[in-house]
Amino acid sequence: MNAHVPTLFLMLIAINITLTLSVGLVARAQLRDGMAYWAAGLACNTAGYMLLALRGQISDLLSIVLANVLFSSVFALFTEGVLQFQNRQPRRCAIWLPVLATALLFAALIPWQVARVLLGAIVFSAQSTVIVQSLLQRRTTTVGVGQYFMVAGFLMMIVAFAFQGVGTLLRADQIASITTPHVGQTVVFLVAAVSVVVVSLGLVVMTKERADERNQNLAMRDELTGLINRRSLLESMAQHLSTAKRYGQPLSLLMVDVDYFKRVNDSYGHLSGDSVLKAITRVIAQRTRVQDLLGRLGGEEFLVILPNTNEEGARQLAETLRQGVAGASFQAASGEPIAVTVSIGLCAMSQLQDPQCDDLIGAADQALYRAKAAGRNRVEVYVHSHQTSMG
Ligand code: GH3
Ligand code: MG
Ligand code: MG
Repeated sequence: MNAHVPTLFLMLIAINITLTLSVGLVARAQLRDGMAYWAAGLACNTAGYMLLALRGQISDLLSIVLANVLFSSVFALFTEGVLQFQNRQPRRCAIWLPVLATALLFAALIPWQVARVLLGAIVFSAQSTVIVQSLLQRRTTTVGVGQYFMVAGFLMMIVAFAFQGVGTLLRADQIASITTPHVGQTVVFLVAAVSVVVVSLGLVVMTKERADERNQNLAMRDELTGLINRRSLLESMAQHLSTAKRYGQPLSLLMVDVDYFKRVNDSYGHLSGDSVLKAITRVIAQRTRVQDLLGRLGGEEFLVILPNTNEEGARQLAETLRQGVAGASFQAASGEPIAVTVSIGLCAMSQLQDPQCDDLIGAADQALYRAKAAGRNRVEVYVHSHQTSMG
């Protein structure tokens, strides 16, 4: 099956112009996450095919050397884009060396068509392999499926280059020029068209998935402390509570409130107050287990959800947290030491009859209120309608 070469070129150029303009438009609004590199890569690809299509009508320097330098740059720019997306430092020398090599070798090989095709197949598939490798190295830490579109697109190219390379070797004598139609040529052109669409789809999906992830984080996280916020705390708590009920497991809740925090702000300034909140977060986070859920309920109040933890276990942890904060050294922005303590209200699920989230939080809040009333820097445990104290 031999397709009409000028038609193939026209199709490739039309597809590439469309993709360059679409991705370029998106990249204008969002220059981060590799988008600008990818848009530039697609522009190089378009320009490369235009020069290739003009073979014989313009100088070989443009149609052979510059066109292939542009193709090599496509891979270099995509590598840069992938690394920027992954927040990795690019090794610029390694990325752009193949482009320089392409320039020199293609200039030297202008009279030798077969050698040039082979060289292109080797250089471009090596560059594609680097991209696939970079994508796969971070596949588990990158959300979504967009990355696999990109991997698939570049794998298609590698296969096409291999096909082209082997085909050229086998039929070297019959291939007069790029404009001579033959099966290998047709396959390579079709794969070039499909793969650039798949790769572009991948990069658009990747950036969309990245943006969704960021928005979700913004919606779930408290900006100051990085802890989950009230809304996601309550959502997670509902899940943990229903799991605990279903499996008959214990569950406890700690409500932690900083003592006289208003004074910290008043005496040392709001910024010092903020850094104390961050430091308290670290003290508490260091002492909880992975399965415990720590979040910021609001202001200077934290909630710790303790799955599979009975009242005694929760009491020990609460006491550890209280002592941890009381013993830690906090500093104002001026370097002045600030003494900080917390009061903690504890409620174990076993103390209530088939409780809902609100019931547990209300009970922990009551215990906390008692801790404040009893002098602060202490832990109070909710027990039915009365509470006992310690600390
Ligand atoms: P108590 O021991 O009774 O809890 O006294 P308190 O001063 O800690 O309690 P109060 O509720 O009167 O004051 C809480 C203070 O926490 C008031 C508010 O300005 C401060 N606050 C709330 N959120 C933030 C924040 O994000 N940053 C800073 N710096 N301060 C905050
Ligand atoms: Mg307080
Ligand atoms: Mg408070």
